[in-house]
Parts: sequence; structure tokens; C-alpha cells
Amino acid sequence: MIYLDHNATSPLRPEARAAMERALEIGGNPSSVHGAGRVARACVEAARESVARLAGAESADVVFTSGGTEANALALWGAVYGALEAEARLTRLFVSAIEHSSVAVNAAVIAARVPGIRIAEIPVGSDGAIDVEALRVLLREGKGRALVAAMAANNETGVIQPLGEIARHAKEAGALLLVDAVQSAGKVTTDFAKLGADYLTLSAHKIGGPQGVGALIVKSGVPLASIVGGGGHERGRRAGTENVSGIAGFGAAAAVVRELGTANRLAEFRDRFENGVRKRWPQAVFFGASASRLGNTSNFALPGISAENAMMGLDLDGIMVSSGSACSSGKVKSSRVLKAMGVDDETARSALRVSFGWNSSDDDVDAALAALDRLVARAHSRVAA
Ligand code: PLP
Repeated sequence: MIYLDHNATSPLRPEARAAMERALEIGGNPSSVHGAGRVARACVEAARESVARLAGAESADVVFTSGGTEANALALWGAVYGALEAEARLTRLFVSAIEHSSVAVNAAVIAARVPGIRIAEIPVGSDGAIDVEALRVLLREGKGRALVAAMAANNETGVIQPLGEIARHAKEAGALLLVDAVQSAGKVTTDFAKLGADYLTLSAHKIGGPQGVGALIVKSGVPLASIVGGGGHERGRRAGTENVSGIAGFGAAAAVVRELGTANRLAEFRDRFENGVRKRWPQAVFFGASASRLGNTSNFALPGISAENAMMGLDLDGIMVSSGSACSSGKVKSSRVLKAMGVDDETARSALRVSFGWNSSDDDVDAALAALDRLVARAHSRVAA
């Protein structure tokens, strides 16, 4: 079986597994003051330091959560309710059209339920990059404090977003900035302090850590109300006994990706794959290819071959890829992201995402191309019959 779906989840790195196994042996609660508790606390704090370093943040800024989804929800709801308490009420949410559903849906629910908050979408260009000028206009038009939600890199296309400019406009307008760095962490440099974001979110399983752990990085002094009450954990920002082994695995994965740096071979796999596809099928369409992209992601369509059939055919052939946003559902539905980029429905229905990761190889690329050859040959023979 060949796994080429790292943007959905990246298999557990051996270093993360080993750290989790060690943590599972501890058996103490990090809130307990006895010996076992203190060992568990030290384990959590070492991981916090490691995750903070990956994000270019202070360890005190790191709030562990159950994943990227909860981190995004905590940032949004926490900012809204924290700002109410601070009497610097948020009145406007500007959310890019390509945000992950954990941002898009929470923001929409906030706008529907919290009186006095409006929401507007920041459009993207046909290259998949957020339209910075449109954001600038949105920020200027209305009154009241705003929060801007802009992801660092898109999960479907891999397009790296113009965060420097986005942060500059947000700052000039006095707006808060939430950056979902779930897909970009470890692949492009993440420097929370330098970027000037107020909230940044991470997920362990996208960097080879375990599923079910993530983090919200929050700048000190910005509004953040806890959305889960019931304990003073995480400095009162997220109640509940910490997932010690998961957090240990997250810390270990963060240490590995930090050490490897961003100069890895992932773009070589992606380019080998895309060159192979282009050579065979010159009519193939690569989404976001004119923008700067994460080195590991290729989102493409072979016109006339439906993504649903292709995904199933490739799966039967032992190649695991995805179509659209795989982490939101097991079924193929048309992509919001491609729609926002102006891709027509028919082409979007053919979109496949191949994403490489730490255990990928040239052989995997060649096997995927050979499987695509067989898939297209079968599709043509069906048409001819
Ligand atoms: N944000 C982005 C950009 C993602 O791609 C994902 C998952 O695919 C998430 C957030 C959610 O992270 P988690 O799976 O840890 O809840």
C-alpha cells in the first residue's frame, strides 16, 4: 500500500511513537504534586517548549487542545467572548473563502448567534491566494474591531498565503489576526512573534505526531475566554486533564521537523509526480500551480476522469490519495476551495490531491504514475466499448 495523503494525516513518526510509549509509562496526572505528577508535568512542559520553538513562540503562549479543529474554535469563540469581557467588542469577522471548515463554520455560527457581529468573506484569486487588496478594502469600509482569519497554507491546494501583507493590513486596522498554520507548520518557517499574529493553530497529526492533539498559540494580552470550563488547566485557557502521551508525541514530532528544517525532499517528489503527469496527459490542470505552494502538495484534474472513480480505482490499486478536503468527510463532494478559485464544477469534480510526506519515496511517485496509467487506460477502454 502506498500512502500519498499526508495532508489528511501524516503517519506517526517513530520518534513520536517512542515518546508516547515513554509517557504512557508515567501514569501520573500533571496537576498532582506527588512524584508521578511532577514527572507528567515535566513531560508536558518539555513538549510545550518544543511546540513553541516550532512556532517561533514563547512556551507560555501554547495552549494544548484536542487538535486543530478545537484550536480554531477556541481562538474564534475565545476571542469573541474574551473581547466582550475586555469591552473591546469584536463586531466584524473577515474569513478567507478557503479556510478549513473548523474556521469557516465556527465563524458563521458566531455571526448567526452572537448579536452585533457581522461576517464577510475575503475572496481568493484564481491562483488560490487570498486577495489582499480585497481585505484592505473590507477592513477600511466598516467600523468596529475586526478579526481576520487567514490560513498560512491551504490544505487542498497547498497554496502559501501572503501572510506578511495580511498581517500588515490587519495591524494597521487594529484587527486581531488568526492564522491556521495546521498545514504549513514544519513545511515553511512559522515565526509567530515575527508575523505579528494574535492566534495561531497547529495540529500534531499533520507533522507526524498523534491524532487528537493540537495547540493554540496565543499572544499574551489578547482576548481569550476559555470555552471549556471546569479546571484551571493550561493557565485557565482550556480545562481538562492534559493528554500527556499525545502531547509528548506532539513535542517529539515538533522536535524532528524543526531539526529537519524546511529544506527537505518533498518538492522533489511533487515535481517528479507533476512532470510525470504533464508528460502523459498535457491536458492535466494543476490547481494553484502559478502561486507559491507547499512542496508536498499536488492538486490536479485529468479532465473527463471523475475524482470519485479515480480515488476508488487508485485505492484498489493500493495507492491512497484524496479528493477535495479529506479530513472533513469520507465522501467526495465538490470543493469550496476550488469554487472560490473560480474552477468550474466539472473540472472540480475531477480534482485529486496527492500529498507527500516524511516516509514518501521516488518509488511511491512512480507507482502512483503507473497506477494512473492503468486507471486512464481502463477509463478509455470503457468509453471505447
Ligand atoms: N486546519 C486545517 C488547514 C486542516 O487541514 C485541518 C485538518 O485537515 C484542521 C485545521 C483540523 O485539524 P484536526 O484534524 O487536528 O482537527
